[in-house]
Amino acid sequence: MTVAGGEARLLLGGPIASEIRLAVAEDVEAYRKRTGRSPGLAIVIVGRDAPSMVYLQQILKSCEAVGIASRLVEIEGEATERLVTDAIAALNADPTVNGIIVQMPLPPSIRLRAVIDAIDPAKDIDGIHPLNAGLLRLGYDGFLPATAHAAVEILRRSGIEIEGKRAVVVGRSAVVGMPAAFLLVRENATVTVCHSRTRDLEHHVRDAEILVVAAGRPGLITGSMLSPGVVVVDVGINVVGDTIVGDVDFESARHVASAITPVPRGVGPITNALLLAHLTRAAYAQEQAQPAATSSDARRPPAPDPSVTAAGGRAAPTRGHR
Ligand code: NAP
Repeated sequence: MTVAGGEARLLLGGPIASEIRLAVAEDVEAYRKRTGRSPGLAIVIVGRDAPSMVYLQQILKSCEAVGIASRLVEIEGEATERLVTDAIAALNADPTVNGIIVQMPLPPSIRLRAVIDAIDPAKDIDGIHPLNAGLLRLGYDGFLPATAHAAVEILRRSGIEIEGKRAVVVGRSAVVGMPAAFLLVRENATVTVCHSRTRDLEHHVRDAEILVVAAGRPGLITGSMLSPGVVVVDVGINVVGDTIVGDVDFESARHVASAITPVPRGVGPITNALLLAHLTRAAYAQEQAQPAATSSDARRPPAPDPSVTAAGGRAAPTRGHR
């Protein structure tokens, strides 16, 4: 544990993301040998905006690097809800598409819930469908929202003990804060969730041994709010002027925390790599769900272990036991 005035260990996402991508590339190669085709990802975009296109380009590039076939399905900004849900239905029915991501935010005229409900849960690799959210809530294996998964995976793969720790999550969104909290509970932490109506945020933050911040508010958490030795995972991505910053004031926090994720280069790269891992897992699961056409097909070997750890939903006992 680092005392105040020391320097926190930097939890960098890059090396962990490379490790995950390497394992994914091996799984993809094995899948390709067995099926004769690459796992396929479809990214649905409704309208365009510059920052999300940059993010998408990164996903497409990493897909190519590991041998995943990816495609963009672009729907004009004025698209109707029906057009979007029809496009998703076509992807659900397409056997060459194993995973579907819908780029957020959607235009205001299109209901988020209608779009989410349209995704086949078996292809919902970013864990936004209510079925996958419910599985996580119940402690069963489903697809996890990649960012929340990354926030916990960076702790696990950095050797930071979670079990028994007091963890505080700032943010309660369906895609980041709440799934991160459920994953931390699954890892046997004692979890407090804070949000915009929390009274005395500082009091809760100071109690944290592990702090996960996903509020989208630059500088919300400063070093003076932290207890010495806390481990800080900053999920926030905020554009301030020409730079990208997190929700934690890095300069003041790094002298109090024992370990901290920088922004950028922290959680972000792992999110991206985990999406690929989820996609590969979906491809294997869908292949195994196919009825065997011949007796030799019936003797197919089982799918190899997915590239990710239990938090990624491998078919292991849940509730923190691995
Ligand atoms: P969101 O839907 O806007 O949710 C923000 C949450 O923070 C809400 O629960 C909100 O509380 C809470 N909050 C806002 N202001 C607060 C305050 N002053 N004190 C305490 N809580 C406060 O955002 P999100 O989608 O969860 O994303 C959170 C952050 O993560 C954003 O910066 C986003 O860009 C980033 N992100 C990062 C990645 C990655 O790969 N690293 C991926 C996705 C998102 P209420 O519920 O009360 O409104």
